[in-house]
Amino acid sequence: MGRTSKDKRDVYYRLAKENGWRARSAFKLLQLDEEFQLFQGVTRAVDLCAAPGSWSQVLSQKIGGQGSGHVVAVDLQAMAPLPGVIQIQGDITQLSTAKEIIQHFEGCPADLVVCDGAPDVTGLHDVDEYMQAQLLLAVSNPGSPCPPLVPLGHLSLGFTLSHLSCPQALNIATHVLKPGGCFVAKIFRGRDVTLLYSQLRVFFSSVLCAKPRSSRNSSIEAFAVCRGYDPPEGFVADLSRPLLDHSYDFNQLDGPTRIIVPFVTCGDLSAYDSDRSYPLELEDGSGYKYTPPTQPPISPPYQEACTLKKKGQLAKEIRPQDCPISQVDVVPQ
Ligand code: SAM
Repeated sequence: MGRTSKDKRDVYYRLAKENGWRARSAFKLLQLDEEFQLFQGVTRAVDLCAAPGSWSQVLSQKIGGQGSGHVVAVDLQAMAPLPGVIQIQGDITQLSTAKEIIQHFEGCPADLVVCDGAPDVTGLHDVDEYMQAQLLLAVSNPGSPCPPLVPLGHLSLGFTLSHLSCPQALNIATHVLKPGGCFVAKIFRGRDVTLLYSQLRVFFSSVLCAKPRSSRNSSIEAFAVCRGYDPPEGFVADLSRPLLDHSYDFNQLDGPTRIIVPFVTCGDLSAYDSDRSYPLELEDGSGYKYTPPTQPPISPPYQEACTLKKKGQLAKEIRPQDCPISQVDVVPQ
């Protein structure tokens, strides 16, 4: 496959490179901003799950243009530096990372928290939706198992969720956001998503579900746009205490009283369709010239395999048809 084929198949991938963005995700945030004016009046922001950093690029350009902005970006993976962006390499589900983030906003809270985090997808929509909701919302005492936020009902998970016990995106947001602040987070729109909306609605006066044009229709991904941070009366943000432990009823807006969240598609209708392939010569007449990625991965998990391959030391897969019959047939005792 030639190096231009991905440019044909994914116009946003190509445009991201041509516009100097580190990832195509930049367009999702830009299209969300077109619809919701997310950056209006924002000077302090947190980018959770930020690598390789295209949302941080957008944030630093939109809110830090005059050098007055304050952006803190966090990811498990190392991220190449970006001017004006404070970086933290860490797991947002770890108490130590949460504390480090919060420290940057003590006395001067944030206007906006964004989270584009996604656990590794399995392809099983129910499991992926559940894991995504956990990254966003599940909060429990360090060391104790997370209470399930999304009813497991039809799920049969063959593992415990204790590794997810910890502060997660929403809990971090409750520590750093100023009243009226905004939280934008990637969600997977599965059948239990209304419960997630209800839970977010406990903390925000407005919750919407948005699908930018640059997010493929074929993907269950969407974004919860939560505006007007307004926690319940008496709520005190506390990392050592699960959000679910508070006395208010987290599920009050579930069941027959569940809230219906508006669904908004955003991005100009004339914007490129992320599910289509486009010819290399686009209609805008700008011509085509291959552009390399803006920021190649700095320490990808496959790096060791590449080095071993270069040295001819990478173990080859042994296919049954390559084995002598005697080896294939031998059954270990
Ligand atoms: N918004 C980014 C951009 O524009 O470049 C892309 C984010 S990418 C879709 C999802 C990121 O979530 C990955 O870099 C992954 O390392 C990060 N992530 C997943 N789980 C995480 C966790 N528990 N803590 C921190 N980062 C996490």
